Amino acid sequence: MSRSHAQAFAPPPESAAERRNLVGLSRAELAAAMAELGEKPFRAKQLWHWIYHRGETDFAAMTTLSKDFRARLGERFTVARPAVAEALVSRDGTRKWLLNLPDGQQVETVYIPEEDRGTLCVSSQVGCTLTCKFCHTGTQRLVRNLAPAEIVGQIMVARDGLGEWPGDGSGGPAEGRQVTNIVLMGMGEPLYNYDNVAAAMKIAMDPEGLSISKRKITLSTSGVVPEMERCGRELDVNLAVSLHATSDETRDWIMPINKKYPLKMLLDACRSYPGTHNARRITFEYVMLKGVNDSEEDARRLIALLKGIPAKVNLIPFNPWPGSFFECSDAATIKRFADILSAAHISSPVRATRGDDILAACGQLKSESERRKKSERAGADL
Ligand code: SAH
Ligand code: SF4
Repeated sequence: MSRSHAQAFAPPPESAAERRNLVGLSRAELAAAMAELGEKPFRAKQLWHWIYHRGETDFAAMTTLSKDFRARLGERFTVARPAVAEALVSRDGTRKWLLNLPDGQQVETVYIPEEDRGTLCVSSQVGCTLTCKFCHTGTQRLVRNLAPAEIVGQIMVARDGLGEWPGDGSGGPAEGRQVTNIVLMGMGEPLYNYDNVAAAMKIAMDPEGLSISKRKITLSTSGVVPEMERCGRELDVNLAVSLHATSDETRDWIMPINKKYPLKMLLDACRSYPGTHNARRITFEYVMLKGVNDSEEDARRLIALLKGIPAKVNLIPFNPWPGSFFECSDAATIKRFADILSAAHISSPVRATRGDDILAACGQLKSESERRKKSERAGADL
């Protein structure tokens, strides 16, 4: 992304009066912060272990460090996560955290348990600048990039909430960890905040910390073509592309970024995405919009577009929100669409709706909480 975008939407700087948060610093930055205190590099290694492997937030409890060092750390630093404003658990086990950021902004993180994995859906921005017509996040006005600490902090909040740090009193997870996979599919466009997302994912992948393998991390983009190659080369994470249409005409309408990076350009970037092969396919997300992108002709065009790309397609039933213009395709239409793809040997699961009793779909809890706050304020004015 251009420097100007990164600057215009940068997270607010930490105030010099406050203690500095150690979460979100790279290993090198942590070592430099310790060097400033006159400490040797191995201290940074010990701290890293406490912060990201043990999940400890209290310096006083970091018993492998000397008492004097713990006291000096406590004077200058914190180990902070975003504050939890609301934590909800759905009937189906889906969890959702609404998080308060230091500047009053809010983001959300969703945990989806499945039989063989637990996936955490992480946000990368407050709001989104891209205004896709079917997406509620795109209508939210306030936008800024999340800092590395705010991105990696979402994973730490989930580990806190699920009680899955070793030695946190809960005895650690009984049968392995619950958060096994990360998808950058929450609020925001991760490739418009590439540097901070990359810094956070490098921390998440570190084997001596959160230790989530790059094979278990998927970044979803609306198609920010100039950043895709770098993302594959530097982070080597799985790629998901929000395709949602099979002609430039429709995609221009529902996803305005298509005017900048049209289908041919996007699919060429997919063809050359580093590390793609049959065992590691690109996921194409396709939201089913009644009468817009769900015809048999669309399905056949989609097959032609994906030729030569190791691909799978996730068919997503459209999730309506108050004031949304679209309707979800009927079940029979979705099935027909999926069958046409399957006949062409393209795996095309239909995504199940999860956590609908806690408004787990993108952007909904945040707007529900804002609506409530507004109505409370209105009530107070009466
Ligand atoms: N900005 C990135 C990642 C976040 S959106 C992107 O667009 O890929 C995660 C996925 O949810 C995207 O595929 C997005 O198109 C889809 N989505 C957004 N609003 C939706 C809705 N109302 N119903 C169903 N899927 C939606
Ligand atoms: Fe932004 Fe993705 Fe929503 Fe489009 S679909 S507005 S890129 S979050």
